[in-house]
Amino acid sequence: MQCKSWLAVLAVIISLVSCQSNSNSAAERSFILSANMDSSVKPGDNFYQYVNGGWLKRAKIPPTEAATGTFYNVLDTTKARLRSILDSVSSGGQTQGSVEQLVGDLYAAGMDSGTIEKLGYEPLKLYLAKIDSFRNVKDLMAFEAYMNLQNHSYVISFGIGADQKNSRMNILSLGQTGLGLPDRDYYFRKDSATLALQKAYKAYIVQLLVLTGVNPAEATKESEAVYALEKEMAGSHRTNVQLRDPQSNYHMIKLNALEQTTPRIGWTNIFTQTGVHLDSLDIAQPAFYKKLNDLLASVPLSTWKAYYRFHVADDYASDLSMAFVNTRFGYLKLLNGQDSLKPRWERIYAVVDQNLGDGLGHLYAKKYFPPEAKQRIVDLVNNLQAALRDRIGKLDWMSDSTKAIAKDKLQAFLKKVGYPEKWRDYSRVSIDRGHYFEDLVSCQKNEYQYQLSKLGKPVDRTEWFITASTVDAYYNPTFNEIVFPAGILQSPAFDPQADDAMNYGGIGMVIGHEMTHGFDDQGAQYDKDGNLKNWWGKSDSARFVAKAKKVAELFSRFTVLDSLHINGELTDGENIADMGGLVIAYNAFKMTKEAQDSTKIDGLTPDQRFFISLAQIWRMLARPSQVRTLINVDPHSPPMYRVLGPLMNFTPFYDAFHVKEGDKMYLPDSSRIRFW
Ligand SMILES: [Zn+2]
Repeated sequence: MQCKSWLAVLAVIISLVSCQSNSNSAAERSFILSANMDSSVKPGDNFYQYVNGGWLKRAKIPPTEAATGTFYNVLDTTKARLRSILDSVSSGGQTQGSVEQLVGDLYAAGMDSGTIEKLGYEPLKLYLAKIDSFRNVKDLMAFEAYMNLQNHSYVISFGIGADQKNSRMNILSLGQTGLGLPDRDYYFRKDSATLALQKAYKAYIVQLLVLTGVNPAEATKESEAVYALEKEMAGSHRTNVQLRDPQSNYHMIKLNALEQTTPRIGWTNIFTQTGVHLDSLDIAQPAFYKKLNDLLASVPLSTWKAYYRFHVADDYASDLSMAFVNTRFGYLKLLNGQDSLKPRWERIYAVVDQNLGDGLGHLYAKKYFPPEAKQRIVDLVNNLQAALRDRIGKLDWMSDSTKAIAKDKLQAFLKKVGYPEKWRDYSRVSIDRGHYFEDLVSCQKNEYQYQLSKLGKPVDRTEWFITASTVDAYYNPTFNEIVFPAGILQSPAFDPQADDAMNYGGIGMVIGHEMTHGFDDQGAQYDKDGNLKNWWGKSDSARFVAKAKKVAELFSRFTVLDSLHINGELTDGENIADMGGLVIAYNAFKMTKEAQDSTKIDGLTPDQRFFISLAQIWRMLARPSQVRTLINVDPHSPPMYRVLGPLMNFTPFYDAFHVKEGDKMYLPDSSRIRFW
């Protein structure tokens, strides 16, 4: 399992706005612009507004975007660089089979809109014919296996990764799947926004069925049946809060026992067809597969055919003619509020990133991440690690014996910065400019074989789970590692020309956040070797759980949009990480020369600059439908509360901005949550 990091959702969203210039010299640059602030707001009333109010008033979300803000600007810089790389490698003349050729030709093939348009949905016909020929459940499951081989799954979803309880070995895990709406709750909520979305989703099913040749009356009937089938599956799904408990989402089972409990699925056939050899596996959410086993008997074959027809078309819609692209966009924009489709280059860049991401990351890192940059970050990470070690030593709620184990875990962190030691082998991928669809299938088959090659083998701890150019970071509990790719190690999160207050409040906070994930309500359940194994003293554990509950209660009180409030249980791990990240980054900052000699810069004390930097990096303006979607599915709190929640509980912030009783952010000293 991989704990997706703080920006997981942002990272897949790509923006259009050109980057703000960062080419000025250090002397000319100011890292805090008063025009971005709002001095009419008292810092102690709403520090996020105080720091970002001016910017929020002026900010305009580009029509192709769901949001704008600091990390969107970072993404803009990265995208502009990647676009220049793509333009260069796609101009031709690359050595056949080289990363440059594969990346460049896939991009060129995707940009060839004329050829793609002419094909319409021709590339899908092979799959649609297979679906039409289903005679029984066995055929249906054979199709599922066939699609799995090209890395597409519908009702059987398996992943290969470290065993949660034997973290040095790779195993296969089965997860709940099968839905088209963002998660199970969308099928059951009855508020007007959700009802509108359900209606739009059904209409989208009709549209895609019609586009693939089904007559409208038939398509409308099938859409209802497909939706009803998904709703049945959704009923067996665990909620996103239930999924956060690693112990109850782990069930090792022998293959023959799995066959007995869910015989209609025909696991042995599926595994034979997909090249999987195993005796036992982890079935993470067994209820879903029991339900699937029942539905295979009770739901008519005609509904299953419509289900696959729609989902295959949906999966590939972005890779087909504009009729498909626009139909899909028409539905998705209800989820995130974008007004218009991104330009072609940006959509194809995203496809290249998704399918040959390590190749693109390789080209990016070679050009934009010099070894000096790496050393500065490694130093910062080490300072933060020392600060957390020191904090653990001083915790008043943890026993000495548990502290010793926590420190061992911290010491054992694997630290990855910039880019991987070795790059993915794409020698089995073949890319030809005239055949975009086949190119994608080649990438996807290669991806499947790559994942399969890990099964039953020792874990390769050098592997990265995001690419070098990604604007994101993560903690991975089974590796006990923190990972910071080149993409996020740039201004304004990290700027070699900025003072320490800015960098510790920026990337320092990010690093501290990821470190704290090793000790949040999920991460704390894994030991230093990445095994799901309790290492806590009994009363330490009880105090930990009580603190985590307090954090959840605090965040559940924040109302974001009309009556929609933060789900404190869903966001608990991220909020704990934000609170810990703040403390660790601040403590590490206090060890720097700037913090110690307390000279003001631009009239601000070092502490004030640190807190302002932290509030600046979370600056974001999002469309209401995007906010609503994120509140429902994103384990991160909305940006404003990622600033307010942690600061309300942090006394040095009160001191730096003279926060007093009566100010809206004020909490009495005895009510402030002191965690890590
Ligand atoms: Zn996180």
